[in-house]
Amino acid sequence: MEFPKSTPEYQELKELKEPWGISYGPIESRRLGLSLGINLLGGGEKVCSYDCPYCELGFTTLKLSQIKKTINFPTLQQVDDAIRQHILKLNKEGVTLDSLSIVGNGEPTLYPDFPEAVEVVIKIRDELSPQSKVSILSNGTTLDNNKIIRALNRLDDRMIKLDAGNDEMLKKIDNPLVRMSIAKLVQSTKGLKDVILQSFFVQGVIDNTATNEVEDWIETVGLIKPKLVHIYGLDRVPPLAGLKQVPPQKLKEISQKLTKKTGIKALVFA
Ligand code: SF4
Repeated sequence: MEFPKSTPEYQELKELKEPWGISYGPIESRRLGLSLGINLLGGGEKVCSYDCPYCELGFTTLKLSQIKKTINFPTLQQVDDAIRQHILKLNKEGVTLDSLSIVGNGEPTLYPDFPEAVEVVIKIRDELSPQSKVSILSNGTTLDNNKIIRALNRLDDRMIKLDAGNDEMLKKIDNPLVRMSIAKLVQSTKGLKDVILQSFFVQGVIDNTATNEVEDWIETVGLIKPKLVHIYGLDRVPPLAGLKQVPPQKLKEISQKLTKKTGIKALVFA
């Protein structure tokens, strides 16, 4: 369900869905420091293989089969020019970036020349902003492609989404538009080095904080063995009504339970 057009919530979502540039920000990110965002997915419709009901970009309306016909992806040259110009301008202003983050208008690995784009970003970082880490936030649906795995391993940080520990919750909380399962995610993350998991928790009409859900999630995290887990909750109005923010104390409890059972460290961003 979407919010009625007259409500402030609708306006807030609309602003978040306004067209993106190839580079945007810098943004002071809770997880990435002062970060230049990189969007490879064009300025139009959101391009994603999930339809998470909490997504700050709104619902995913574009089918994957429509992407090639509908989306005007930037060329590699346009990507190079936009990021280069933006960083040169920031350097002149004395701005020091902590990270260049490949995120943007959906799932970044769906960009048709993703491995080549990664090389472009790394080259610019090395030349113009050597102190910055290059990071990506990905939902992990393309990890069955070896070229994507190799490209992700070229980056400094890979943050892969894991919001559920069983397929039933995965369907509710991420609503995959491709064939996806927890078993597939566990298997395909094995090719990644030093993976960081990003896990979103929510209550209300979808609740992945119940004891059995958290236990399944902990078991899955234990199988993936990430170097770190980022735990976070709602901080914007979600597209689906009836979702509720998890109290920070509950997020902390989940984090402590994970570390106690698996020894894996987690950071809570509440
Ligand atoms: S994976 Fe990310 S971009 Fe895609 S729907 Fe979920 S939150 Fe939104």
